[in-house]
Amino acid sequence: MSQITPQSALELINADSLLSDEERDIRDTVRAYVESEIKPHIATWYEDGELPARELAKSFGSLGLLGMHLEGYGCAGTNATSYGLACLELEAGDSGIRSLVSVQGSLAMFAIWKFGSEEQKEQWLPGMAEGTTIGCFGLTETDFGSNPSGMRTNAKRDGDDWVLNGTKMWITNGSIADVAVVWAQTEEGIRGFIVPTTTKGFSAKTIKGKLSLRASVTSELVLENVKLPQDAVLPNVVGLKGPMSCLNEARFGILFGSLGAARDCFETAREYSLSRIQFDGPIANFQLTQEKLANMALELQKGFLLALHLGRLKDDGKLRPEQISLGKLNNVRESIEIARTSRTILGANGITGEYPIMRHAANLESVLTYEGTSEIHLLTIGRALTGISAFR
Ligand SMILES: Cc1cc2nc3c(=O)[nH]c(=O)nc-3n(C[C@H](O)[C@H](O)[C@H](O)COP(=O)(O)OP(=O)(O)OC[C@H]3O[C@@H](n4cnc5c(N)ncnc54)[C@H](O)[C@@H]3O)c2cc1C
Repeated sequence: MSQITPQSALELINADSLLSDEERDIRDTVRAYVESEIKPHIATWYEDGELPARELAKSFGSLGLLGMHLEGYGCAGTNATSYGLACLELEAGDSGIRSLVSVQGSLAMFAIWKFGSEEQKEQWLPGMAEGTTIGCFGLTETDFGSNPSGMRTNAKRDGDDWVLNGTKMWITNGSIADVAVVWAQTEEGIRGFIVPTTTKGFSAKTIKGKLSLRASVTSELVLENVKLPQDAVLPNVVGLKGPMSCLNEARFGILFGSLGAARDCFETAREYSLSRIQFDGPIANFQLTQEKLANMALELQKGFLLALHLGRLKDDGKLRPEQISLGKLNNVRESIEIARTSRTILGANGITGEYPIMRHAANLESVLTYEGTSEIHLLTIGRALTGISAFR
């Protein structure tokens, strides 16, 4: 047996040396919260398909995690890299927990922060940053997923008001939200609307029977003659670039976040390999097991370095959409591979809910699909490489 102290994957490259003191502090705070408040409960929440989302949102609010990289209106105003690190730690708990924070901060709050009027920002953002007001983001429809430009939800002017009709599908936090940012066709093009969920004609139904992201609320939204005042529209954007720029914010969180799920799988497998005895010794003795651990550690490190590089670019205001696609595609794809390989190291125990691996693996299937499927990100990268758009 070796005398060397086993190291975690990111210790191998001394990843901490690449972070500032503040970034390490934020990372450590979120990690400690996830260890004490999420990990002891997550298997039950997942199995039951229920989670105390309102209480969690308030805790995330008091930790400053909601809209944390936005400036003003009660938001923490950290750099983007810190937000990424927080996503990584949250997703080490569960992708559904990270989704709650991503949708609130990067989708619903970001849309209002970036495209809203001063009055809209002052009305909604402080409560959303506190976690007392929960938001959702309605873009996808049953028939329009990867191609939201064809959406049927529409908003028509009626005197000084707007009237919205349509349905949205697969909306995270939909049935627990206090406010929905809904994207709809108008005469001028696609526009965003702030819809308080108590408005007459708005309803939301939780989607049941999910085998992935079970510790996350996913819903269908129905808008039936929902009447909104003139000032419910987000004034500062028209067209698909509005929702797409919000998605880029959330994808940035995911390219860090997915590595958290992968790290949790890797660490579980590494520890297990040191204690599980077969053929009179720990399975970590076998070269085949060490090969798996070494390859997983390599991908974790490469993914982390890529995420960190993209975080630094974002903090310099230089991050481009195709670079986000590259990071999301690679890091989610490799995280799924790490989850699968980790599962094999646990043998039969790997398929149980006693260990987190199967839960992470199932969650990552949703993460691969939402915020742009892997195919859509491949096409985005392909377009950047060739100048040719192959989406149609
Ligand atoms: C758990 C969960 C939570 C979600 N939360 C939200 C949310 O909060 N808000 C929201 O608006 N949406 C949300 N979504 C929806 C998500 O963004 C969509 O599922 C995603 O965009 C894909 O759309 P789709 O499922 O309709 O698949 P489709 O678009 O039907 O795609 C099916 C397959 O066809 C492929 N495909 C499609 N077009 C092309 C092409 N041009 N070239 C090659 N292949 C192509 C896709 O890559 C995929 O493999 C969520 C989804 C899930 C699963």
